Amino acid sequence: MALVNEHFLKLPGNYLFADIAKRVNAYKLSHPKERVISLGIGDVTQPLCPAVIEAMHKAVEEMATKATFHGYGPERGYDFLREAILKNDFLPRGIHLDANEIFINDGAKSDTANIQELLRWDNSIGVTDPIYPVYTDSNAMIGRAGLFSEGRWSSVTYFPCTEENDFIPALPDRRVDMIYLCYPNNPTGTVLSKEELRKWVNYALHNDAIIFYDAAYEAYITDDSIPHSIYEIKGARKCAIEFRSYSKTAGFTGIRCGYTVIPKELTAARLDDESRINLNQLWDRRQSTKFNGTSYVSQRAAEAIYTPEGKQQVRETIGYYMENARIMRETLVKLGFKVYGGENAPYLWVKTSPGTDSWKMFDELLYSCAVVSTPGVGFGPSGEGYFRLTSFGDRDNVLEAMERISRWVKR
Ligand SMILES: *Cc1c(COP(=O)(O)O)cnc(C)c1O
Repeated sequence: MALVNEHFLKLPGNYLFADIAKRVNAYKLSHPKERVISLGIGDVTQPLCPAVIEAMHKAVEEMATKATFHGYGPERGYDFLREAILKNDFLPRGIHLDANEIFINDGAKSDTANIQELLRWDNSIGVTDPIYPVYTDSNAMIGRAGLFSEGRWSSVTYFPCTEENDFIPALPDRRVDMIYLCYPNNPTGTVLSKEELRKWVNYALHNDAIIFYDAAYEAYITDDSIPHSIYEIKGARKCAIEFRSYSKTAGFTGIRCGYTVIPKELTAARLDDESRINLNQLWDRRQSTKFNGTSYVSQRAAEAIYTPEGKQQVRETIGYYMENARIMRETLVKLGFKVYGGENAPYLWVKTSPGTDSWKMFDELLYSCAVVSTPGVGFGPSGEGYFRLTSFGDRDNVLEAMERISRWVKR
């Protein structure tokens, strides 16, 4: 008898964005003349930059000729891309990595979800709250998260991030073996200073814990004092894995490419003896069984963002989104909203009106302004009382949405 993996049945039935889509569709059916503007889901809207398009055309042409055709690539990714990453993403920040510490992937989601396979099912996990749900759900699938009830996983330690603590999570007061951090943060758009991040690295070193550091929004940091990589912190090579993605950096959500950094010094303990296991080698072994690489065309596309033209063009698009964020922030603050984030990240985290919970606020924005937001509580218990807006929209839509919200608030 083939028995199902019961852990999957513990997952909350509806994925947040499916819930939202259902409500938006109901609204559209009853209001066919209204044009709905989405500031909800975190997908980009601007096209790939010319340097990337040119590189992709060239790569496709190579595939058309026997002499330059590419089949399966190297498992950890092509050297041309890994070298470009070392030279551009890390060396300028004083971080010396080896190409073999970089694993090219098909975007950060798969690796942030799969990485937990390297550790025993009975390790304890902790996440900042609110949080990108992939971390908890992927752990739930192998039974590490416990049961889901009233918006919480019973075996997950939550580190609340709210306006009360300025969105700076406190270190756990109990043992946590696996820690997920995402900075700049989705959904709150807030960041961690070097001093704060150092506390987490020291906690991990002290407790032999591992930090999974999701830096998918690193390119949006504008404040020079904010760390772009966890490896800017001394000792992090011994306790942290970092995830990067070209999705938000360069509009690759439909192309698929990112990478994971696993330093050679990173090891995990065994239960039965004193020896320690090298996680870089273990992940390599895992990947060679379960992953056959990111397409050659995608990797050439990613390489192109490190050329002088590519860098300039990618910066312009990020600047466009951040100008959206500035417009949204200014408008909402003027209207009396309490707004967080939006300065080093493409997300604004906004306090709901007094006495209004996240879903009620969502409905009010939808029915009064035809604007789609994301209810904060969908990202975890500490998200109640907030909603998220993304700055990934078209400028015209952003302006129109702000106009509608202004009219509604002032009515
Ligand atoms: C968008 C996003 C990613 C990137 O996902 P891809 O699979 O690379 O497209 C990773 N982490 C967070 C928190 C994100 O919001």
